[in-house]
Amino acid sequence: MEKILNYINNEFAETVHGKLLDIVEPAVNKTYAQLQVAEKEEIDKAVFAAQTAFPLWSSLSLEERCNWLWKITEGIEAEFETFAAAESKDSGKPLSLARRIDIPRSVSNFKFFAGAAQHFASESHYMPDAGINYTLRKPIGVVGCISPWNLPLYLFTWKIAPALAAGNCVIAKPSEVTPYTAFLLAKVCQKIGLPKGVLNIVHGGIETGRLIVAHPKIKAISFTGSTRAGREIAQTAASSFKKVSLELGGKNPNIIFDDADLEETVKTSVLSSFNNQGQICLCGSRIFVQEKSYEKFINQFVGLVSALKVGDPNSDDTRIGAIVSKEHLEKVLSYIKLAEEEGGKILTGGKQAQPEGRCKEGYFIAPTIIEGLSYNCRTNQEEIFGPVVTIMPFKDEEDVLMMANSVEYGLSATVWTNDLKRAHRIAEKLECGIVWINSWMMRDLRTPFGGVKSSGVGREGGWEAMRFFTEAKNVFIKY
Ligand code: NAD
Repeated sequence: MEKILNYINNEFAETVHGKLLDIVEPAVNKTYAQLQVAEKEEIDKAVFAAQTAFPLWSSLSLEERCNWLWKITEGIEAEFETFAAAESKDSGKPLSLARRIDIPRSVSNFKFFAGAAQHFASESHYMPDAGINYTLRKPIGVVGCISPWNLPLYLFTWKIAPALAAGNCVIAKPSEVTPYTAFLLAKVCQKIGLPKGVLNIVHGGIETGRLIVAHPKIKAISFTGSTRAGREIAQTAASSFKKVSLELGGKNPNIIFDDADLEETVKTSVLSSFNNQGQICLCGSRIFVQEKSYEKFINQFVGLVSALKVGDPNSDDTRIGAIVSKEHLEKVLSYIKLAEEEGGKILTGGKQAQPEGRCKEGYFIAPTIIEGLSYNCRTNQEEIFGPVVTIMPFKDEEDVLMMANSVEYGLSATVWTNDLKRAHRIAEKLECGIVWINSWMMRDLRTPFGGVKSSGVGREGGWEAMRFFTEAKNVFIKY
């Protein structure tokens, strides 16, 4: 069976202890590879390699450094189909989605930050009759990047690219559930001859992540994942004053007013509810529909959702692929059971789906719509992160804002209305980091990305990422 090895100092090496973790293809429920778990010895080795590489990497000219990022993008593009197939196999997502979103966006991440680094500027502050302050922005040193399983390469590169572009050396760990495209990325880096130690890709689960976070020589942690892990990381990092950027869970509202264009709203709500099996932190899992449109919305929405094809990720017409793991499948099913216990009525889905043929043993759940729940029950307050949405009616703005803001999370929100003034009012009052009006998941890589409350600390994207991965130093010069 294929072994996924750690990539340290531009080499793939066996670990000291040889501990392995099975990697399962969720659509068929079969182990197809094993990863070697990085333990203390490997993390120390990776950090040493990164420290050694830092003086050279951080002193390269911007153009030289950014050329390396371009070479990485060319390496991914040259193997585009291999990357897309691996992402789909590892995570269960439809291959068409990996081709359309995951891999193109991973390429864009490197291209974007290769450009951003060259345009990044720092401020100067003039003091009349006194002098001038200017701000130096230097790379931090060795930084850690830890990412989740839902958009594996997409989120992994979203961190690595700005970290490298800013001149840092990186210890990066993908999710142990979906490590394969990170392994392919490591192969690309080796093939293009990226300078030794600049990027080290280590594998393993929580314990490996903890070693990275606790390592005294790692000066900053960029993390995307659960609120549970984020809380622990914040605590560990606090004692050594590490910089942290935490992108955590969500329970996002999708708010539909009577004056919205219903056809477009329904069509996009299918995507915002069930794209990637609902396993996107930005999915709108709580749908609020204004009273007059409620029945009409439900009829059209349930009609489209029950027609979505659930099945083999390799089929072109599959819209809903497999849930990422058995553990996650069980978690999502337990929430559907909870919703029923809390009085919810299932309008479609609500159970495991069993496609025929190759995928008959896989982990599939039919897209599920639930109504009749109170806004403050557990189903509507806790993150499910699967193909499950709830629908609730609302009276007016005040009513829906209270319900939308009632959760501990605050990542994103979608609002459907043709009333411009209302759109501004609501956008301002929603407690979250990102609001889409009459659209969903339109991403411009220059914009700040992140959440409030238990959805995280800090912002990624554009200058925010460049600022996170650099340290500011003010210099004053007297006239
Ligand atoms: P997770 O927190 O279990 O794991 C994420 C990563 O952190 C993995 O690489 C894991 O090995 C590692 N990890 C876990 N515990 C750790 C610890 N204590 N210390 C260090 N590393 C640790 O999350 P997941 O189940 O992989 O991903 C799903 C979660 O990610 C959901 O909550 C989802 O909302 C969130 N997410 C958030 C965003 C965002 O941008 N806000 C984007 C995608 C996913």
